Amino acid sequence: MTLGKYSIGCGDRFAREAAAQLEAYRKIAEDGVDVVPVWNKSNREHDIIGTEPSSVREAAQEAVSAAGWTKEWHVDADHINLSTVDRYLESFDFFTLDVAAGIGGEVDESAVKTFLKTRADLVDSPINIAGLAEPIVIDQKRAGEIVRTYLPAVKQAGTLYRRILDAKGEGNFIPEVSMDETDVPQGPAELLLILAALADEGIPIQTIAPRFSGRFNKGVEYVGDPAAFAVEFEADLMVVAHAIGAFGLPANLKLSVHSGSDKFAIYPEIGRLIRKHDAGVHLKTAGTTWLEEIIGLAEADGEGLELAKTVYGKAFVQRVELCAPYAEIIDIHDDKLPTPEEVANWSAEEFVRALRHDSTDELYNADFRQLVHVGYKVAAKMGATYLKALSDHRESVARNVTFNLYERHLKPLFLDS
Ligand SMILES: [Zn+2]
Repeated sequence: MTLGKYSIGCGDRFAREAAAQLEAYRKIAEDGVDVVPVWNKSNREHDIIGTEPSSVREAAQEAVSAAGWTKEWHVDADHINLSTVDRYLESFDFFTLDVAAGIGGEVDESAVKTFLKTRADLVDSPINIAGLAEPIVIDQKRAGEIVRTYLPAVKQAGTLYRRILDAKGEGNFIPEVSMDETDVPQGPAELLLILAALADEGIPIQTIAPRFSGRFNKGVEYVGDPAAFAVEFEADLMVVAHAIGAFGLPANLKLSVHSGSDKFAIYPEIGRLIRKHDAGVHLKTAGTTWLEEIIGLAEADGEGLELAKTVYGKAFVQRVELCAPYAEIIDIHDDKLPTPEEVANWSAEEFVRALRHDSTDELYNADFRQLVHVGYKVAAKMGATYLKALSDHRESVARNVTFNLYERHLKPLFLDS
């Protein structure tokens, strides 16, 4: 099973938007670019909402059948580890092995020695990588540090990969390794050694999600210098291309950008660089569709708007608890949040403009948006009431979901501007 060159992970927390999402992929295909839809829902989301993983495939399958979609699509067991993988084995065909927790973990010194010996060509001598202006040089000391830091994570990935392999059989699933949910970014040198170690571990990874520089907060703009990101991203692309040949990794191996939705400042760079180097990319959206559900409900006005306000009001009260699982990947300034009493007086237009990700709009409030982003637990607790609202206001919700994915994400990434 080989993942296509361009793929976008889309989340669908309440399993109601697959058709509206698929419509965006249909539109970009009509523009001449095939982008593979990959439905993903992290284990954390399943726990918070209380859904069973198999529901992701069921919802996607239904949309795929209804739309007559005959091209490639997948369902991603997102951010799983050894303790959570089992309930994903049956219905998933894409596995994101989250081994960030292993970074800097307990290290087997003999394994470090073995790596440094078998991969001696990567240490001290310049490594010439096509497309990089300067060779990468990793001296003995730095190589030791990198290997000690990341080898425990790579070993975890190996154990996890073999667990999935036993259950599903070779070639029947797409393995991704993610190391993004950690503090310290991995640069091109780290990425090179990590890929060598993953190859040694026998994992035929098709995508790798490093921790890039800058902040990838959930649902909002990239925080960092887009020009610096472009330099790093291009170097990473070159390292990945080099690793395919040098370490015998799958030919379609590509970078995966996690929490990649709404990072509009870097899309022109990502798009330009993947076209320049004829490289693939996987980009995982994170909660952007859930936010469009709330925007769609608010835009519908009346009961839809009331429900959107209720979600915010409750999220505001429960904000400490709701933000805790996302502490690393959100930045909310309490003093910039409107109070529920203020929001209660907002018109549909005011609510939508505060929430919709348009940084040129003076009413846009990124803090408000991030709190709603983590507030899906409130909607989950509403149960049937929330689902009924999604169905009552289907046109408004679906229109916003499709527009957001197609106009704000797929087009800037994959069409030459
Ligand atoms: Zn991630």
